[in-house]
Amino acid sequence: MTVNLLDLDLEGLAVFCERLGERRFRAVQLFRWIHQKGARQFDEMTDLAKSLREKLKTSAQIKPLDVVSQHISADGTIKWLFDVGDGNAIETVFIPEEDRGTLCLSSQAGCAVGCRFCSTGHQGFSRNLKTGEIIAQLWFAEHFLRKYLQREERVISNVVMMGMGEPLQNYAELLPALKVMLDDHGYGLSRRRVTVSTSGIVPMIDRLAQDCPVALAVSLHAPNDALRDQLVPLNLKYPLAQLVAAVHRYLPHAPRDFVTFEYCMLDGVNDTDACARQLVERVRAHPGAWCKFNLIPFNPFPASGLLRSKPDRVQAFARILNEAGIITTVRKTRGDDIDAACGQLAGDVKDRTRVMVRMERNRNLRSPSAAPLAKHATGGSA
Ligand code: SAH
Ligand code: SF4
Repeated sequence: MTVNLLDLDLEGLAVFCERLGERRFRAVQLFRWIHQKGARQFDEMTDLAKSLREKLKTSAQIKPLDVVSQHISADGTIKWLFDVGDGNAIETVFIPEEDRGTLCLSSQAGCAVGCRFCSTGHQGFSRNLKTGEIIAQLWFAEHFLRKYLQREERVISNVVMMGMGEPLQNYAELLPALKVMLDDHGYGLSRRRVTVSTSGIVPMIDRLAQDCPVALAVSLHAPNDALRDQLVPLNLKYPLAQLVAAVHRYLPHAPRDFVTFEYCMLDGVNDTDACARQLVERVRAHPGAWCKFNLIPFNPFPASGLLRSKPDRVQAFARILNEAGIITTVRKTRGDDIDAACGQLAGDVKDRTRVMVRMERNRNLRSPSAAPLAKHATGGSA
């Protein structure tokens, strides 16, 4: 069986090279070809000895994901649906802004946490993604976008693990993927610009602090356990006090001196003044400016039975937090015309036929070298 080189971080690739009877430093060359230049074929790697290229051809591959569809929003946001086999599909979203390009990656097909307000949660859990499937999203997007936007230099400056799935429930595959993102010979992203978002898997927050402390975002959504138990069922296992304690243990390791709390604004559920004041009390129980809030207006989907908070309610809620000295921003909705906004990522988990039909229609989008599509303005905001 051939090894998918997208599954390996640099250390893993060095071990692989040794097994082929090659010196470890060859791994650096190979790694750069794959991640920095987007090479797909070993024959492209002209500075590797022909004998090594031949060995690689029989023992390894660089395995991309099949693109099922690609949608470009009027605001420049791009959403890809990737086929990951057995009727499972995952989604990846690129969000261009003036000063950065953010890629939102999926970590699982579906999600087992089952949050009330999340469309991925409603579809249930299919399987964990492999490291190579997490990295293939970045590999494809970066090299596709360089061609599409006609840019020589790096396009993706930030990665957020905020697509489908709970990244800390797929820790073993996530960790090497984070290392590839951070590696100077890989994507060279700074720790501050790689964010893991979690619904609060307490023991894995501690593991991440030790193994690879990147920026942390915690999906809070409620100021007390009674409400959070209903919205994020995982709260029954790791209640708020334990979660906040884990955040405090993380802080000394974090690349920034704060953690971001995400809070999905649900009309009449968690958006009252009383909820905002309870949050202020929780935060003030610990000294210092240790957290920020990012309010996400709920993106509705039919099965949720929930509504988005009114804009003036969101503003009033933000004001209470800000006036208490807690920096609070409201997330701009991006790409909602193509269902790419937070929580709208559902993939096509069970319906293989539909995936196949769309794959037929989108044959020309399957590799980073695909012909550029009609260009939309990028960098603009909605
Ligand atoms: N599982 C991780 C990361 C993926 S979800 C987590 O829960 O943090 C990324 C973010 O989108 C989370 O903050 C999540 O709460 C939010 N989200 C999920 N569904 C949403 C929806 N329908 N509207 C707005 N935000 C949503
Ligand atoms: Fe899973 Fe995150 Fe959605 Fe909750 S919000 S169901 S943890 S993807």
